[in-house]
Amino acid sequence: MKYPKIRELKEAVVSLVTPAFTTKFPHKPHTPYENFRGKPEVDDKYCVGCETCANVCPPNAITIRDDRNNGKRFITRDYGKCIFCGMCQQHCITGKGVVLSDKIFDLTVFEREKIIEEQEKELVVCKHCQAIITTKEHINYLHKKLGAKAFASILNLNLLNEKLQLAPKEDTDLEIKDGLKRKDMFNIICPNCMRSVLIKYI
Ligand code: SF4
Ligand code: SF4
Repeated sequence: MKYPKIRELKEAVVSLVTPAFTTKFPHKPHTPYENFRGKPEVDDKYCVGCETCANVCPPNAITIRDDRNNGKRFITRDYGKCIFCGMCQQHCITGKGVVLSDKIFDLTVFEREKIIEEQEKELVVCKHCQAIITTKEHINYLHKKLGAKAFASILNLNLLNEKLQLAPKEDTDLEIKDGLKRKDMFNIICPNCMRSVLIKYI
């Protein structure tokens, strides 16, 4: 019979009298270290649905689906794919739309659907060419950032009027009925239509 080495014997005795290194999660909450990067938490109040985080997410954990017919944008975040890199937080245009929390062990589930989250945002769709411009919240956020400068352009009048009610809705209906003309350059917010007018007349 082989006798254990002295070092192994010493380790066994020490481990008997010292506390465990592993945590007792889920029986006791996990206490993360400072700056620990865990599950990204979305704050829908500050998320404007701009799509930036989806564009920078390395494993494509964030995906965007636009439903033109219903004017809705669906943002899906699959935390089963998330690598906790923090790119979404770093590039969020509002700075508060998504912030990494210190939770990670709570993502252990039997059904993957439980760690998939979905948000819904209202889209701005061009009335003339049906192109998707962005979300309403995104445009409103830009207005807020621009402040009084937003009024310098008539392009955003329709959306500004929805909040300010400066004129009845029908007065600001910028629908183009007789085909794109040079005059429409001042009435459209769609980059596609703007390009068409520029190519046609300049
Ligand atoms: S932390 Fe990284 S991987 Fe996870 S959702 Fe954000 S960008 Fe994607
Ligand atoms: S970058 Fe920020 S504001 Fe834009 S969709 Fe992502 S979380 Fe929302």
